[in-house]
Amino acid sequence: MIVAVDGPAAAGKGTIARALAKHLGYHFLDTGALYRMVGLAALRAGGAPISAAAAIAAARTLDPGAFADSDLRNEMVAAAASEVAAIPEVRAALLALQRAFARQKPGAVLDGRDIGTVVCPDADVKLFVTASQEVRARRRQQELGAADYESVLAEILTRDARDSQRPVSPLIPAADAVIIDTSDLDRDQAVAAALRAVMANRVGR
Ligand code: C5P
Repeated sequence: MIVAVDGPAAAGKGTIARALAKHLGYHFLDTGALYRMVGLAALRAGGAPISAAAAIAAARTLDPGAFADSDLRNEMVAAAASEVAAIPEVRAALLALQRAFARQKPGAVLDGRDIGTVVCPDADVKLFVTASQEVRARRRQQELGAADYESVLAEILTRDARDSQRPVSPLIPAADAVIIDTSDLDRDQAVAAALRAVMANRVGR
């Protein structure tokens, strides 16, 4: 059983995907963290502008254990992740790892941008979690403890545009995804909506 959870930055997909995995007893993979690790490794290797060769080398030799989660959660790393994520060889290098993770029993929940479209096109349930750009920027501002709403909003819009417009694996809902708009939902309501969607799609399996 594979549950794919895709969507733009700060829409709540990580929170939802984690909660689903816990509830269902499934494995959970934050695929954005993989791209963040590659982005951070490329920054450490050569700084900005990011070298594609350094990013590809980092993706091919990625050791997920070498990074602390706290190093990955800032906007500089998020921007670097989005840059390296547009490099086809980086995406190809991370594909097998994600697919192997998804095959684990009794099931797996993966969150990202292209899980339902490219990584696991045969996922049993596909959710596309979204929210208005203002709500997403407010949430990210709170999460980061950032002072400036406008710069957080600008960063999110730049990243969404890059993720949606890249030629390889762009951020788009799969044709068979259930769309969940969390703009007017609190955390519990969003998780409940996602769980309902999963249960509805499991019927008959
Ligand atoms: O989800 P998160 O914000 O941590 O993702 C960071 C960046 O990694 C995204 O902006 C996107 O460019 C990239 N990403 C991706 N495909 C995924 C997951 C993340 O391109 N499956």
